[in-house]
Amino acid sequence: MQIINPATEELIQEIGEDSPDVILKKYQQANIAQSAWVAVPLTERIACIERFYALLDEEKDQLAETLTQEVGKPIQQSYNELNGARKRIEYFIKNSAKWLAEEWITEEDATREKIVYEPLGVIANISAWNYPYLVGVNVFVPALIGGNGVLYKPSEYATLTGLHIQRLLYRAGIPQNVFQIIIGKGTAGQALLELPLNGYFFTGSYRTGKYIAEHTASKLVPVQLELGGKDPLYVMDDIESVDSVAEAALEGAVYNNGQSCCAVERIYVQEKVYDRFIEAFVDKAKKMVIGDPLKKTTEIGPLSRKEQIDFLKQQVADAEEKGGTVLLGGNIAGSRGYYFEPTVVVNTNHNMKLMTEESFGPVIGIQKVKDDREAVELMKDTPYGLTAAVYSKNFERAEAVMKQMDTGTVYWNCCDRVSAGLPWSGRKSSGLGATLSYQGIRAFVQPKAYHLRG
Ligand code: NAD
Repeated sequence: MQIINPATEELIQEIGEDSPDVILKKYQQANIAQSAWVAVPLTERIACIERFYALLDEEKDQLAETLTQEVGKPIQQSYNELNGARKRIEYFIKNSAKWLAEEWITEEDATREKIVYEPLGVIANISAWNYPYLVGVNVFVPALIGGNGVLYKPSEYATLTGLHIQRLLYRAGIPQNVFQIIIGKGTAGQALLELPLNGYFFTGSYRTGKYIAEHTASKLVPVQLELGGKDPLYVMDDIESVDSVAEAALEGAVYNNGQSCCAVERIYVQEKVYDRFIEAFVDKAKKMVIGDPLKKTTEIGPLSRKEQIDFLKQQVADAEEKGGTVLLGGNIAGSRGYYFEPTVVVNTNHNMKLMTEESFGPVIGIQKVKDDREAVELMKDTPYGLTAAVYSKNFERAEAVMKQMDTGTVYWNCCDRVSAGLPWSGRKSSGLGATLSYQGIRAFVQPKAYHLRG
């Protein structure tokens, strides 16, 4: 497997993929190791994760550089991701004991009753490349704390980061066989589906997620899916500062080169503020610094995958054919690397792919709306259900819109954010189940009900 730097198109490293036999062996080892791991006191399991938390900080320069070289993420955003991952880990360190403790339901009755939370067993953590630390720690940290074995399959585009994660977990004291990396492309992920694992936790595209759900259904084990989105942002006409809302919306659209599951993917703006919003948005987008992702000042680096360039070009061409106007960008940038210009398209409608299918790039369609009713109708016109954002001075008005969204997350005067204390979940084609918050701790354990007499 070749690991290519998307900024230079140069080969970073060649690395062998795990064969199905190797994957089977890793599973067998993890299965044996997990029974010993569950017997390790919870405080010690948490202490390992505390050391991992410290190591992420200790090695942050090397980790950030690898991440940037491998996926093209601007270096400052690689540091931000590491900091964000540490915040999530901190949440799990502080809260896991409370949510994994046995619960007495009744101690006085003739039959005493309690709930004990036991690990699922050995689980698969099949992961995406866009935020390998963030989406990884959502799964393997609470899974390990809960006493599970983990077969961790990083994306083929974030393999070197996956290897760093494994190295640091081992240094932190996680026994080698309890956590095992599975190296390879989709075929290596496929091999995991053939094994009798006790849970499948997937982050990635709708297409692969649906395939995994279908192919593991007969196992009757937990399957959680964190999938894509087509997240809308609605700007009401009562906002206080058009300029600051345009800035927030732009950041939500192009942060990580627009390759975030909860990126702002389409914007609706009420008539009264539309022209001023477009002007401010395009003005700011023009000033974004595109370039070498290893430079601290770079805001837009290359896309992580070459094939995404043609995909974005086609979305823009389709929008233009159907009456859209490209106000900015629309093309590759530079002569080397997978760069795509920040792109703004107006006069959009929902016949355009740009407004209905996930773009996953620095490309945004903006549409004018009359009122809240029209905005809600358009915001809801999607098979996805990850997040939706509303900008307004008036909470009641914004709340009325948020209540109508069939999404796992809603935002008022903010967007494109995830909090460790809140459940992260997608509805409809955006996923199944939740990570983070206490729900994301309990997702990796199963309850056992004790009925005790005598
Ligand atoms: P992807 O579906 O192409 O790949 C995800 C993982 O699945 C990779 O590790 C890949 O090797 C593996 N895989 C591929 N085929 C497989 C198979 N047949 N069986 C088992 N595993 C297989 O997705 P991606 O390109 O890595 O990620 C981008 C997508 O992820 C976007 O749609 C994005 O919105 C979504 N995402 C969602 C969240 C969330 O929290 N909801 C977070 C990050 C990314």
